[in-house]
Order: sequence, then structure tokens, then C-alpha cells
Amino acid sequence: MIFALLQTEKKSFGSIALFSLSSAVLLLSDSQASQLIWNLPMMWDYLAAGSYYMLPVAMALLLEQWFSDRRPWLINLVWKIHLVYAVVAIGLALMGVVDLSSTYPPFDALLLASLATVTVVVVKRFRQLKIEQQIILAAYGVFCSLLVVDMAVAHGVLPWGRVPVSWGTLVFSLAVVMISLWHYARTQQALHRLNLSLEQQVTERTQKAESLARREQARVRLLTFENEKTRVLNDINGELQDCISLNQTFHILARRLPDLCSPLRGRLYQRVENGSAYELLTRWGYAGEPESPLRIETPEGPPPHSQIPARHVQDLDQSWSGWQKDEDESLCLWINLQSATEGAVTMALLFVEVPDEFAADGTDYGVARLFQTLSQGVQKIGIALSSISLREELQKYSYEDALTGLKNRRYFDQLLEHESAVALRGDQPLSLLMVDIDHFKRFNDTHGHEAGDSALKAVAGVLARHFRDSDVVCRFGGEEFVIIMAGSTAKAAYDKARELAHAVRAMPVEHGGFELGHVTISVGVSSWPECSDSPDSLLGLADRALYRAKEAGRDRVEIS
Ligand code: GH3
Ligand code: MG
Ligand code: MG
Repeated sequence: MIFALLQTEKKSFGSIALFSLSSAVLLLSDSQASQLIWNLPMMWDYLAAGSYYMLPVAMALLLEQWFSDRRPWLINLVWKIHLVYAVVAIGLALMGVVDLSSTYPPFDALLLASLATVTVVVVKRFRQLKIEQQIILAAYGVFCSLLVVDMAVAHGVLPWGRVPVSWGTLVFSLAVVMISLWHYARTQQALHRLNLSLEQQVTERTQKAESLARREQARVRLLTFENEKTRVLNDINGELQDCISLNQTFHILARRLPDLCSPLRGRLYQRVENGSAYELLTRWGYAGEPESPLRIETPEGPPPHSQIPARHVQDLDQSWSGWQKDEDESLCLWINLQSATEGAVTMALLFVEVPDEFAADGTDYGVARLFQTLSQGVQKIGIALSSISLREELQKYSYEDALTGLKNRRYFDQLLEHESAVALRGDQPLSLLMVDIDHFKRFNDTHGHEAGDSALKAVAGVLARHFRDSDVVCRFGGEEFVIIMAGSTAKAAYDKARELAHAVRAMPVEHGGFELGHVTISVGVSSWPECSDSPDSLLGLADRALYRAKEAGRDRVEIS
């Protein structure tokens, strides 16, 4: 019970314990039972005196702690005086200096003074005390009143009568017991509430920890997923590095993009017809026959602003470029490259969409993050394609004549060597035409160099249109052209040359909106095996034939 009080009145416990101990010893020494426990009457007298003298010490200590915030120096003085008195009086009595009974009257006087002092202090602050403190004080008041009456009887102030001092002790003890029980009940309730709140806190923290663990798992899954995508993307870029033409890249993209996009299903369209349309190259993740269009006409105007499907937006920044909202769940990703001649060109369209089961079964890997990864991946692929395109264009320029668009002299030299070897191996005829515009210097002098360029382009156009795809027309230099006709006999080449001369003669040259008249050409033809023993000598023979055509008056064809 005292322990229950201890829970809430820790500081007061010492004083109450001292008080209870003193009261108990006092009660015991007063009763016959004391002799049964310890048959030393003198000792019980000393114990009774000691306990009696310690009562005000205990009470004053208790009050001092209750009023500790107001520094009750008077009460402090009271317990110190009483403690000194108890020690000195009992000590002197034990030493036989004074008789024990003679120590009671001074104590009674001291107690009266102390009670008066304490009463004044307590009465002033009684209302500020807690209810249990008030009850203990009231019980102590009853006990003290009985003590005072007992004193008055002992000193003859009141007529003799039996004063029930032990009843006062009992009332005080009962008060302490009841308050202890009340405290105990209250503490139990508080403990119960504390238990409940702790259990709730534990549940909440467990839930929080579980949710954190789930989030961590999801984060790890997402990181693994993104790492995998980065790896695939690196592989794709590595494979693209080995490509020498854009056509090759489409095979790689068709093969590897499904890996990059998985688990999203998708379709890849390739640019055709100079960008006027896109044709389906591959599709993945769809069951059954394709419902998707096999061909998409290029929409007019700039691509619409990019947007992720609303349900996958999450916390992402939506302002990426290259995205087009297609329908609710499908996105179009534009695979762009930078061409030196055409600027930004969309080489392919990649449509991706979230399969139903992927979105529904809760295995959400962060679709928006995947879209973002894809967007970045496609940009990287675009950069790789740009460098391939630039390389291709550079290659093209190194074999192409800038003015006429025909193959240049370098290309001709390599091709003639190659075609000569092929002709020899296959025992197939090979013909060569050497074309020179007549009096071109005069044309330039008359109409200007720019008009001369126009004439060169016009003649080149006639040449390009006039021959079969298997024939290769090259600008040999200046106003001279050569045509390699693989598989053509001398007769066929000669006839073709005459038709060509006729076509050029008939073509009016225009420049700056004016017709500048006509130009003519002279052509030298040579053919293997009819004109020479080896295809290697064809160029020299054609040149000589051309010279003869010039000598013979120009605008004609000579065969060597
Ligand atoms: P011939 O009938 O004997 O061939 O006489 P020609 O004047 O055509 O021959 P010549 O070799 O004397 O002159 C060739 C001219 O072609 C000289 C040069 O100014 C011109 N020419 C060469 N390349 C170009 C070019 O790229 N643009 C223009 N405008 N003229 C060119
Ligand atoms: Mg010439
Ligand atoms: Mg000429």
C-alpha cells in the first residue's frame, strides 16, 4: 500500500514511512503485545519515547516536501529542532544523565509550539494541497488534537480521563491506507491506459516499419529494373556503334527495342518514302493478329506536346520532349536524329502501352519511371543514329559530286576497277562512255559561270535519266562525264550514246528564268571485249574516241 503511494508521492514516501513506523512502534509499545515480542519493558519505554518524539519530525518533513516550492523555512526549523531534541533527550536518558520521564514535559511544550507554527503555515496553504494530502493532514490534525488533550490531562489542565491517542494513530493509519488503495487503483488505471497506448504505438510502428520495408523492396525492385534497362540500352548503343548505315540500325532496333520496353508492349514504325509515311517494322506483347495500322501517314505540323498517361504521372516532371499522347494508355515516342542536310528527322515511331495485367496485378514497377527511362533511352538512341547518319552522309559526300549529285571521279576509279574485275570473271561485256560538252568555255564566257553551272546540272540530269539503274554515271571533272555500262556491248553502248547526244542537243538550257539556247556533247565509246583486250584500257580508248569526235567536228559519237 505504501508502495502505491510511493508511485505518486515518491518524495513523501520517506516521511510517511517514518510516520507510519513511529505510529506503529507507539501503538505496539502501548499494548501488551510488546511484551510478547520483546520482554524488555525499559526498551519499549525508550522506543515509545523515541517514536513519540519522531512523529513531529516525520510530519514536518512531509509538509516541507509538499510545500517545497515555497521554501517553508519555519517547517524546516521545526523538524530540525524536534530531531535534535529526540536525539539529545533519548541520548541523555540512555546515558543516565536525565530520567526518561523528565524529557516528556519539555517535549510537550516544544510540540505545542511546533503544532501552533505548523497549523498557521498549513491553514494558509491548505487549499493548495491535493485532496489526499488534505485527508492525511486532517487525520494528522485529529491525532494531534488527541495528543494535546492527552497532554492537558497529563499536566492536570483537564480533569483526568482516558484519552484515546491510539485511536488517533489508527485514524491516521487508516487515512494513509485508504489513500494508498485509492492511489493503487488510480495507478492501475493509468497503467492500463499506458498499456493500451503502448500497444497502439507498437501496432502503428509495426505498420510503419512494414510499409517502409515494402517501399524499400519496391525501390530495390525499381533500381534492379532500371539497371536492367540501362544495361539493355548500353547493349543497343554498342550494337549501333558497329553499324555503317541507317538501314542496318533498323534491324537492331527491331530486335532489341522489345527488350528495352518490356513489360510494356509496343510497335515500331520505320520512316519510308522520304518521311511521308511510317511503316510497321515490328510489334511485341500483343496476342493474336495485329490490329495496329501497318502504315501511318506523317501528321502535318510539329509533333504534339508530350504527355504521360494521367494514371502513370505520379511525381514526375512531365515536360519532356519527344512524347506524344496517343490514347489513354499508349504513347508515341519519336526517334529523332540530326541530319546534316535535312536537320531534325524522325526516323522511327515507337508506340508503347501498358498491358492490362501489368497495371492491374499491383506489380507496378513505376510505369512513369519506365516511361522516363524509355524517353531518355530513345534520346540516346537518337544521338547514336545521328552519328551514323552523319557518317553515312560524309561517306556519301566523299563519293558524290556536290554540283551535279552524280558520283565523283574517286568513285568512278574504284568502280571501274571493280567492274573490270567482275566483267573479266563473269566474261560479261563492259562498255565505257566518255562525254564532253562542246565549246563549254565559250558558253561560260557568253553567259557567265553560274549559267555554266546550270548547264552542267541540266546535262547531268539528262545523263542520270537516260541510263539504266545498273549503269553508273559519274562526273569525271570539269565539263566531262563518264558512264560505266556493265553488261553492254559496243553496239548497245554506241546506240545509247547517240540517243544521249540527241537528247542533250534537244534540251534547252535555262538559267535565271531565261532560255540560253542549247549545248551539244561529244562522246567517245569503248567496249570490252570488242574494242580492247583488257577492260583496263577502256578509259584510254574512250578518251581517244572522244578526241576523234572533237576532231571530227563535235556533237557526235565515236567508237574506238
Ligand atoms: P571543247 O569543245 O574542245 O571541249 O571546248 P571546251 O571549251 O568545252 O573545252 P575547254 O577545256 O577549253 O574548256 C572547258 C571549260 O569548262 C573551261 C571551264 O571554265 C569550264 N568548266 C569546267 N568546270 C566547270 C564548272 O564546274 N562550272 C562551270 N561553269 N564551268 C566549268
Ligand atoms: Mg574538256
Ligand atoms: Mg569541252
